Amino acid sequence: MTDYTFPLPYGHEYEGERIRAENLRLECGGAGSRMVEWLTTAGMEEIEDGRIEVVGPDIKDASEKTTLPLAIVVKVAGSKMQADYEPVLEKQIHRILNRLQGVMHIGQRAIACLRISKAAVEKGFTLRHLGVILHKKLLEDFGRIVDKVQVTIYTGEDKVAEIFAEAENAYRFRDTRIEGMTDEETDTFYSCIVCQSFAPFHICTISPERSSPCGSYNWLDCKASSEIDPAGPNKAVLKGKAKDSRLGQWQGINDFVKKASQGKTEYYNLYSIMDKPMPTCEWVECISAVLPL
Ligand code: SF4
Repeated sequence: MTDYTFPLPYGHEYEGERIRAENLRLECGGAGSRMVEWLTTAGMEEIEDGRIEVVGPDIKDASEKTTLPLAIVVKVAGSKMQADYEPVLEKQIHRILNRLQGVMHIGQRAIACLRISKAAVEKGFTLRHLGVILHKKLLEDFGRIVDKVQVTIYTGEDKVAEIFAEAENAYRFRDTRIEGMTDEETDTFYSCIVCQSFAPFHICTISPERSSPCGSYNWLDCKASSEIDPAGPNKAVLKGKAKDSRLGQWQGINDFVKKASQGKTEYYNLYSIMDKPMPTCEWVECISAVLPL
């Protein structure tokens, strides 16, 4: 049975907490190692609910400040679970882990980074607790679609590399589902405010052709997210009348962004990187541009 006796407090108030070098005990991802997180669907009989495993060294195996490669693999099963929901649930890893006092999580997919403070480790926190809290919160928050959650945490170099390759295939598959769809085909785009935990007032708009700057969500993922969690970070926004089709500006998006950013952002253009571009957070994968040659 899963142990819910937890050494750290958990709550909204810890989102955005920074773990700086002087308080750092363990870093996974970032400059010194690599980190990947991958959530995938399994059959009801293939996984054991509440099974949490750490394969490789844990924090307690190193007495000093250290780095470790890390792969967090979450397998979920449920009669209402669909493959389309995987990116949405996977992105919850960021939200859930950030709500632990003494734990800082940035990024997603294969560019994630995790920092654990000295104080958290002194209170008894280990990597296994990452699995414990993910299991508990995914079931609590998404019990409508998830019946079982199993988490495996790998810290060995070879196994992490193996998971990287597997996860990259899954990410590629997710990303290709949207190929060919254009912004003209829909009257609805989606907002994302996941990064407001670190950048208050930040708001992204995701269209079929303008994916998320972080690379974690495309239009289909946001659509799935708004369906399974209507009160969550991704809202359907009617784009409304085009203000500038060349730069990618619509009245409905302007109105929504202004309201959701509490007036901090008046408007932005989805297709321009020079003229009032959509803002981005610190963890982006690349800048892509179409040059009108
Ligand atoms: S960068 Fe934008 S799309 Fe990506 S998680 Fe943050 S708010 Fe959402």
